[in-house]
Amino acid sequence: MKKLVIANWKMNPINLKGAVKMVEELKRGVAKKSKSEIVICPPFVYLANLAKLLKGSKIKLGAQNCSWDKMGPLTGEIAPTMLKDIGAKYVILGHSERMEKLAENNAIVSRKLKTALEVGLNCVVCIGDNADEHNSGKVFAILEQKFNEILADLKGADYAKIILVYEPIWAISTNQDFVESCSVDEALTVALFFKKLLIQRAGQKSAGMVKILYGGSVNAQNANSYLAEEGIDGVLVGGASLNIKEFLKIC
Ligand code: PEP
Repeated sequence: MKKLVIANWKMNPINLKGAVKMVEELKRGVAKKSKSEIVICPPFVYLANLAKLLKGSKIKLGAQNCSWDKMGPLTGEIAPTMLKDIGAKYVILGHSERMEKLAENNAIVSRKLKTALEVGLNCVVCIGDNADEHNSGKVFAILEQKFNEILADLKGADYAKIILVYEPIWAISTNQDFVESCSVDEALTVALFFKKLLIQRAGQKSAGMVKILYGGSVNAQNANSYLAEEGIDGVLVGGASLNIKEFLKIC
């Protein structure tokens, strides 16, 4: 199975011209028989333009967030239905920057997940521990609680649309509390832990449909060591995805 490489551009680049330039460079650089499936998640306002540029390309488009409703009175929000309509196939949910800086919580992420799944988007669900949780000696119990609260409402067919990312907050390159990158062993241990929880919850068949990724300071130097692990189905890349030459090396 091909590995999945997802770019999280966050609030970059500064203008549409820059985003178009990045996508054109990416399209030129992606090998015809690319070893990976590639998804890019630019800011909302660039999506419609980039969707046109990516028509017929193997590179898929995703958003970085969506609303919990399909339409209606929610000023400033973007519905998953709207994302689907303009050609996005993926959405990132539960990113720690939204949880820590924009007051999202597990219940909100769970609600967004339910709606995005109803609409048919592939949902890139981030679950991770912060530095205090990491050092608490209870990190697996903490991750399990987040897993249970966020994935609370999943049903049979939903599992095929879930991409679960272990994203330790302390290993995100731009985090103020950045500690260090997470070792491959540790990333794999948590990936296998998530797989075990999925099997317990939904059985081997449904659990087998879920891709489990690692995210946090992945770059061109270290990507291969994560991607070489059978238990890690891909990577979510933040900072290093903004440099297209480096991102292409990861892919
Ligand atoms: C992220 O924040 O989703 C991420 C993976 O960031 P970085 O690769 O920069 O650590």
